Amino acid sequence: MSIAITRAETLKRKPDSDKLGFGQYFSDHMFLMNYDEGQGWHDARLVPYAPFLLEPAAMVFHYAQEVFEGLKAYRRADGGIQLFRPDMNIARMRVSCERLCIPPVDDALYLEAIKALVDLERDWVPSEPDTSLYLRPFIIATEPHIGVHASKSYIFAIIASPVGAYYSGGINPVKIYVETKDVRAVKGGMGHTKTGGNYAATLRAGKQVEKFGFSQVLWLDGIHRKYIEEVGAMNVFFRFGDEIATPALQGSILPGVTRDSCLAILRDWGLNVNERVIDAVELNHCDEAWGTGTAAVISPIGEISYDGRQISINNGQIGNLTQKLYDFLTGIQWGRVPDPFGWTVPVEQRTN
Ligand SMILES: *Cc1c(COP(=O)(O)O)cnc(C)c1O
Repeated sequence: MSIAITRAETLKRKPDSDKLGFGQYFSDHMFLMNYDEGQGWHDARLVPYAPFLLEPAAMVFHYAQEVFEGLKAYRRADGGIQLFRPDMNIARMRVSCERLCIPPVDDALYLEAIKALVDLERDWVPSEPDTSLYLRPFIIATEPHIGVHASKSYIFAIIASPVGAYYSGGINPVKIYVETKDVRAVKGGMGHTKTGGNYAATLRAGKQVEKFGFSQVLWLDGIHRKYIEEVGAMNVFFRFGDEIATPALQGSILPGVTRDSCLAILRDWGLNVNERVIDAVELNHCDEAWGTGTAAVISPIGEISYDGRQISINNGQIGNLTQKLYDFLTGIQWGRVPDPFGWTVPVEQRTN
């Protein structure tokens, strides 16, 4: 399938790259493709960024049949642009689609769509330190029908947003709160997929703890409320002495690309790394802790509130290993250090 291009007649003014924030600005174009039962995915196209026209009865509004992804295009010092492990996002969306009965997108076309959009929006990939072009692919159910079944029509879209560092204050350790009432996901549910409903379930706890100065919620398992799962919308790692541990994936945890990359790097460094069950009481003797995700990359944790106690981690300072991992991983992503894993994918400039 080829990708048709309709260029915007007027281009937007680009925001100042020191005031990007996160997810506030959107580029001039987006990728779109439609699915209709009997026809499959069709009409792959790049078009001007614009609102969707949807029926109020479109099923996504009522039954949340939706999946999404998040990845970035990075500007290298030599001016080139690269992606980081896009194959992992593509594969994960396929898993999300399967769970939500959404027809999957062809992997090769998906990668081509990402590259074509980034190439068309090259000027939107910022070059200041820590900035990037965040890409948000998503699929929504569009069939106008009140009744619970899988939709017969969908839109697949990719939009692009130039972003700065996720936390405006730079990489400073954050305070997190261990949530014991609300749960994010349970085994057998959708916790291992990127689907909007999972995030709606997290808003209440996030909003409550924000009032008390916590920036994220640490989620426990939904059954025992005692085993650690994730932090906010990030995976979580701990250093206990010379062991590094992260919760094992068992159905309710999102398999992060950053998580997988950290595991590979730490193992490559010859460290003792375990994916295992982590009991929240272990937080009492942890030496470093950090969250991992595409948006913030590595987010050090300086303090944890658990069971009425405030646990300070590494005196609230970023740990040496956390810093080393941040420097190395962001180094690969922005092309500042050689990529020994073959993770980066260049977005070549096309001739047209
Ligand atoms: C996206 C996401 C992550 C991190 O995944 P990355 O692929 O590393 O960006 C972790 N947890 C949740 C709930 C997420 O939505």
